[in-house]
Amino acid sequence: MANGEKRDYYEILGVHRNASETEIKKAFRKVAIQYHPDKNPGDKGAEEKFKEATEAYEVLSDPQKRAQYDQFGHAGVNGAGGFSGAGFGGFGAGTPFGDIFGDIFGDIFGGGTSRGRSQGRRGDDLLYNLEISFEEAAFGCEKKIEVPFAKRCGTCNGSGAKPGTDQKVCPSCRGAGQVRYQQGFFSVSKTCGQCNGEGKVVDDPCPDCRGKGTTRDSKTLSVKVPGGVETGSRLKLTGEGGQGKGGPNGDLYVAISVREHPIFQREDTNVICEIPISFIQASLGCELEVPTLDGKVSMKIPDATQSGKMYRLKGKGIPSLQGYGRGDQLVVIRVETPTNLNKKQKELLEEFAKISGEEIHPMKKGFLDKVMDFLS
Ligand SMILES: [Zn+2]
Ligand SMILES: [Zn+2]
Repeated sequence: MANGEKRDYYEILGVHRNASETEIKKAFRKVAIQYHPDKNPGDKGAEEKFKEATEAYEVLSDPQKRAQYDQFGHAGVNGAGGFSGAGFGGFGAGTPFGDIFGDIFGDIFGGGTSRGRSQGRRGDDLLYNLEISFEEAAFGCEKKIEVPFAKRCGTCNGSGAKPGTDQKVCPSCRGAGQVRYQQGFFSVSKTCGQCNGEGKVVDDPCPDCRGKGTTRDSKTLSVKVPGGVETGSRLKLTGEGGQGKGGPNGDLYVAISVREHPIFQREDTNVICEIPISFIQASLGCELEVPTLDGKVSMKIPDATQSGKMYRLKGKGIPSLQGYGRGDQLVVIRVETPTNLNKKQKELLEEFAKISGEEIHPMKKGFLDKVMDFLS
């Protein structure tokens, strides 16, 4: 399905926008069972629906992604899409469904097929919010970011048990990591809550990691931000997320937020810049120094320029994220009415008005004529 015609995630799952996590999980389960490829072999439509639902669930089941989606829509969780610079992939590629499938289908089909203890656990995906300047977003940049990660505890060597003591087999699941119970027709198997699927528990926790087997550490990563990104764009750093336990590491998503610029505004790849000029400059014409992303540009403003007039500086906008070409800079002229006039200045203007009549204001005259027509 093309990006532009993506359906609303809530609509796909058939839930309200304020649905609880449980409701979302339940709704996904229903749709997933209905359209599961195993149940609909060769049915492309069902497969599409299944994929769609999975994607919706992937976002709505994650509080952080859900918040992002609520705020920015698809752009919030898909990035601006299409970029594939060094080390980055679009959000769609390699989306971390492993855990969800393990969760849902492990539950439903009593499998332990996807999330068995033997296959280990995939690390968490992390989201990092990176704020960059307008110029950095336009031309790209390289940023160092500090990312927290869980390091294997050196004191207990990752076991979580106090040195000199041992882990013991979990009494709840007897080491299986999963517990089974009956739910309707299904024999449901669920990750054991006491040992978190590890199959082992610790009586005497390691004092340094409090039994978790890992300690917090951080690493510095260099992120190459491609030119043309905007607020809501996401970069994916594969394998730089949370450490897996016997499974692959999670991914790190870097969400871009672009600071406002004091004089530039952005519209797609165009840069808009309003420039105030005096009514004298507007009347007589003038030469302006216009700031652009590439430095100052000299621009001739002709006489009798009206407020709101827009000029286009070709190719002075934002480079496209896909790498072809640049947008334009749109210069919008604002004619400013003078303030704090002194007596002499006012007299001169009154004199000026007296000798001018209405002829010098064609726009105003045209408008007044229309008003007269309208009222008569
Ligand atoms: Zn430890
Ligand atoms: Zn257990």
